[in-house]
Amino acid sequence: MNIILLGPPGAGKGTQAQRLVDKHGMRQLSTGDMLRAAVKAGTPTGLEAKAVMERGELVSDAIVSALIGDELDAMGPDMGAIFDGYPRTEAQAESLDAILDARGRKLDHVIELEVNEDALVERITGRFTCATCGKGYHDTFEKPKAEGTCDKCGGHEFKRRPDDNAETVRTRMAEYRAKTAPILPVYEARGIVGKVDGMADMDEVTAAIEAILAPSS
Ligand code: AMP
Repeated sequence: MNIILLGPPGAGKGTQAQRLVDKHGMRQLSTGDMLRAAVKAGTPTGLEAKAVMERGELVSDAIVSALIGDELDAMGPDMGAIFDGYPRTEAQAESLDAILDARGRKLDHVIELEVNEDALVERITGRFTCATCGKGYHDTFEKPKAEGTCDKCGGHEFKRRPDDNAETVRTRMAEYRAKTAPILPVYEARGIVGKVDGMADMDEVTAAIEAILAPSS
C-alpha cells in the first residue's frame, strides 16, 4: 500500500505516519526528515537546502524527487510507503506518478488532514522531539510524563526545529496554500482522497485514517 499524508505544517502528518509505521510496518518517507539529515551531514544537497528551509520556502522539485526515488529503491518491493511532506507541488505530484509507475507501485490513498490554520502556529511553535529516539512532544499538549525524560527511551536531550518559529511557520503556510493545496483536485478526480479532521484528538485522527485504509489493508 502506498499513501500520501497531505496537510499544512503542523497538521499531524509526522505523528500519524509514525503510528502507521508502528502498526503496519510501513516505511515513512519524509522529505523534511531526509533534508534535515542532509543538512546535518553537510552533503551537497544539505548545503543547497539549508537556507531555503530556514526561510520556510520550498526546496527544488528535482532534489526532493531524487531523494524519494532513492528511498524507494532502498526498500523491499512489498513494503508499503507513507509519503509525508511529499509531494508539495504539482511538478512533484507528476514526478511521484512516474516514480511509482517505474517501480510497479500505485498510489492507493491520499489522506488530507483538514485543520484550522490559526491553531497551527501554537501547535508548531510548542513542539519538540527527543534527540535520541525522535519521539514527538509538545509544551502544552504532550509533555513527557517525567519532566526532562523521554517516555519512550529515557533520553534526557530534546531538540526543536529551527524552522518552527512563528515567522517561518507563516511562510510555510503560505507555501502550502499557494503550491501544495492545488494538487488535491488532481487526486480528488481519481477518487482516492479521504478527508480526516486533523483538529480532533490524535487517537481519533488515527482511527479515522485506519477506517479509510481498512478495505485495502
Ligand atoms: P517538513 O519537515 O515536511 O515540514 O519540511 C521542512 C522543510 O523542508 C520545508 O519547509 C521545506 O523547506 C523543505 N521540504 C520538505 N519537503 C519538501 C518538498 N516535498 N518539497 C520542497 N521542499 C520540501
